[in-house]
Amino acid sequence: MAEQPLIPPRGKVNLADYSPDYTGSWDRESAQEYVQMLREQLSVLQNKLYADGRHAVLVILQAMDAGGKDGTIRSIFTGVSPQGVEVTSFKVPTEEERSRDFLWRVHKRVPRKGMIGVFNRSHYEDVLVARVDGLVAESVWRKRYDQINEFEELLTESGTTILKFFLHISKEEQKKRFEERLTDPGKHWKFSLGDLEVRKRWDLYMRAYEDVLEKCNRPHAPWHIVPANAKWYRDLVVMETLVQALARLPLRFPLAEAGIENIVIPD
Ligand code: AMP
Ligand code: MG
Repeated sequence: MAEQPLIPPRGKVNLADYSPDYTGSWDRESAQEYVQMLREQLSVLQNKLYADGRHAVLVILQAMDAGGKDGTIRSIFTGVSPQGVEVTSFKVPTEEERSRDFLWRVHKRVPRKGMIGVFNRSHYEDVLVARVDGLVAESVWRKRYDQINEFEELLTESGTTILKFFLHISKEEQKKRFEERLTDPGKHWKFSLGDLEVRKRWDLYMRAYEDVLEKCNRPHAPWHIVPANAKWYRDLVVMETLVQALARLPLRFPLAEAGIENIVIPD
């Protein structure tokens, strides 16, 4: 299979060009070994990010239902100190949230310096479900791409590294995962009848995602199209991208207080 770019090149994005089955030259076993190694690096880097306290990282996860957002979070952050990670799952906006601008609830949840913030869904729902379901007028959601870009630019310029991941599964893979949710009583809670309504509009969602991936893919806040039918490859891609981004930050431990070298701890 031809190499598949992770960050789409500038211009129109056609999701049909991106295979959700793509796994590069990896196999499950070597990928899992590599992820284990990355997990150790992530733990060390996250500790340094926290101690340093000058940078924040924001991981944004978007996907269709059963796309693997929850599973990715579980897999990536296993082994990282819970104190340094803050996960926010964005649901249908409440009355209070709906009576403000769409970024109000999002801005409140961005990570402070030293933290990794994870968004399970995000402000992108406001140009995805809001657009496909016509929750707001077209004249309203059309403006949001620019508003999102400016918002993300503000965050970046304030010391936040933004990484955006679209977990790309096929419609067939969603069917398989929905069927598992229906047969396994431990997964019933993950399925709702509304998910079938959304599935009916699959193609409209793909068009809406393509627009997001074109209009909001900026060098300061890039979108990654993650082939996500194979969960182990999805984890590898997200993990590697996050570790590399952290490794690029000029992290350092704060300097010791003056005079520390002569201290003797009293009995
Ligand atoms: P889940 O992630 O399965 O818990 O579902 C959360 C639901 O909230 C999904 O159906 C989303 O489409 C919906 N949701 C999240 N954000 C928004 C938003 N800004 N506007 C409308 N619906 C939203
Ligand atoms: Mg759901």
